[in-house]
Amino acid sequence: MKISKLAILRSFLQTKHFSSLEKLHAFQQQRLQYVLSHHGASFYPNSLNLEDYPIIDKSVFMANFERINTPHISEKDALSVAVEAENSRDFSPVLRTPQGEIVVGLSSGTSGNRGIFLLSAQECALWAGYILKRMLPKPYLKRHKIAFFLRADSHLYHSVSSNLIQFKFYDLFQPLDTHIDALNRQQPTILIMPANALKRLAQMPNLHIKPIKIISVAEVLEDDAKQLIENRFRQPVFQAYQCTEGFLAHTCRYGNWHLNEDAVYIERDWIDEKNGRFCPIITDLNRSTQPVIRYRLNDILTACDEPCPCGSVFARIQKIEGRCDDILIAQTQNGEPFDLYPDFIRNSIVALNQPPQEYRVEQVSGSLKIYLKPLNNDLIKDIATALNQLFDKLKIKPLHLEFLEYTEPPLHQKFRRIKKI
Ligand SMILES: [Zn+2]
Repeated sequence: MKISKLAILRSFLQTKHFSSLEKLHAFQQQRLQYVLSHHGASFYPNSLNLEDYPIIDKSVFMANFERINTPHISEKDALSVAVEAENSRDFSPVLRTPQGEIVVGLSSGTSGNRGIFLLSAQECALWAGYILKRMLPKPYLKRHKIAFFLRADSHLYHSVSSNLIQFKFYDLFQPLDTHIDALNRQQPTILIMPANALKRLAQMPNLHIKPIKIISVAEVLEDDAKQLIENRFRQPVFQAYQCTEGFLAHTCRYGNWHLNEDAVYIERDWIDEKNGRFCPIITDLNRSTQPVIRYRLNDILTACDEPCPCGSVFARIQKIEGRCDDILIAQTQNGEPFDLYPDFIRNSIVALNQPPQEYRVEQVSGSLKIYLKPLNNDLIKDIATALNQLFDKLKIKPLHLEFLEYTEPPLHQKFRRIKKI
């Protein structure tokens, strides 16, 4: 696929840092009106009012796939291209249509629940320019060598290769230590990896690289992992909340999250308003091949109302907690259902005087399987006490606890420390 470097540059230059809320809102409204008047998808209503559009989720989006994408590509055709690319580990296939070539991306969902996302060459260029502007360290006109660790390569990422930027893709389906030599040779200035792989890389003894910017993607980056990585590379870790659905948020130089409100219009579906927890409903302000309008993501974000010292007017969020699917199920003492957020469990465990080196928690019906490294009696006792105190405090019926030996999950699977099976 030919992606115009000029179009990337144009997008890079057009991506602005907004310093006034009025200007941002005016920009959003103008883009939103354009998206609603030009979507061209038979699934959506013809209206300039966002409220007239249904709020949809991945299952509705996929069930109406052909009526939402404007070249009318069937789910079967799109999927066969994406699966072929992923299976062969040769990421050249794209879908050819009368309107031009289309890149097909798969969202990392559980099997049977994955989303397919389509982008034209023009949209890839726009996306690449935008992400570079938000994430590249200054000065921009410096040579950058990017090491990008991903589960699947994508045209999106190759689209940013140029004279100034060298892009090297590392496959997470290969064991991490087989990449060390190549990394030492490449000497990347920018390192982009899922949080869990980054944490493991930071513990590798024979690695001799000095990246000037480290970006954690795709998974929740926990404070202890962040510390470990920062100590190893002597650089702050930045984070990008980027999924196939869109590039939704990034952290600024103060380490605070900002929503990319000039690229995605975000409504909040409150799930726990008292504590600021919501699921984002996104409307993409740039896509036209497959317009994404009022699409509810399954992620739990926590709002933050304080302004940021960096001066950005983009709304802040306190954190990204994980997926709604990972909210554990408990019962109040009266037998009412109770949402037990993964963060409650995480906080209880990391607050221990001697927390485990590694752990994972899985809820299987009424019991919690807790995988520990090391697995010893002191730790088991401490965690059982902490969790029972938590259940008491929340006034919920205690969950049955089961302790097992920790095993490393494979890197090519999205790491979820706390999950419901
Ligand atoms: Zn900031």
